[in-house]
Amino acid sequence: MIQDIAPKTFHNEFTPKAPKDTDLVFIFQKGKPLFYLDGTEKKIPTYAIIKELFPNSIKRMVYLCSVDEVTGFFIGNSERIEVENNCKLTELSNCALEDVRIFRTYVPSWQSYMGITASHLYKWYKYHKYCGHCAGEMEHSKKERAMICTKCGFTDYPKICPVIIVAIKNGDKLLLTKYANRGFTRYALVAGFCEIGETVEETVHREVMEEVGIKVKNLTYYKSQPWGFSESLIMGFFAELDGDADITLDRDELAEAVWMDRKDIPTDTENGLSITYTMMQAFKNGDVI
Ligand SMILES: [Zn+2]
Repeated sequence: MIQDIAPKTFHNEFTPKAPKDTDLVFIFQKGKPLFYLDGTEKKIPTYAIIKELFPNSIKRMVYLCSVDEVTGFFIGNSERIEVENNCKLTELSNCALEDVRIFRTYVPSWQSYMGITASHLYKWYKYHKYCGHCAGEMEHSKKERAMICTKCGFTDYPKICPVIIVAIKNGDKLLLTKYANRGFTRYALVAGFCEIGETVEETVHREVMEEVGIKVKNLTYYKSQPWGFSESLIMGFFAELDGDADITLDRDELAEAVWMDRKDIPTDTENGLSITYTMMQAFKNGDVI
């Protein structure tokens, strides 16, 4: 899955340090990460490159996370970078802003995972410039990953949205779905965000009933996956159909839902990093009966 980067090790503990030339720097504009163009190759810019491109902004490096000896940093908001360095990110000949979904397939995978994590934190930092209590300006804590209000002292921590995903078994068939009105057009599984006050098990039952109109039983926890694209942590379950197999589709959410035979479940390597795909393949291969 996307977080599986062994033999490298991901470190998200808060251990700020000074950047080295080989460290990576993440800059986002309207959710799009900035890449440095090295010939035809798109690379996440190193600190050495950032010093050349944006020399007037390097005092504001914000620690992100590390993978082995390489640390990732933010450099703050892109509009300020443009003002400080008298440039437009969209007009730099040696750079390109890409859709964040590039991190689904970007290699090396450890940089991709750092990028997804960066995307999650970028959104959190972006929406926490001001205090929710008193509207005072927030500043970065020096002790932990948090923002502190400079007026009232309120401390705000990064938020993660819990999400469930459920693979519903009916004998040798699995319920596969396709989203309505979304960029992602491959087969998926029933999934949804947990509501406040709800257990994850209740979320499974509610989402299944809402999206496909059936009941499930015998929930079995499978694995989880941090998924920074939607600022979430996805918890995967297998479940068995309980009763009637007739589908009533929520057409606002889904374009299709089919009971697919184990042997017919598609293999699609481009989608291989997601928990969705991992669960479908676990059923297809007989790892999950
Ligand atoms: Zn405040």
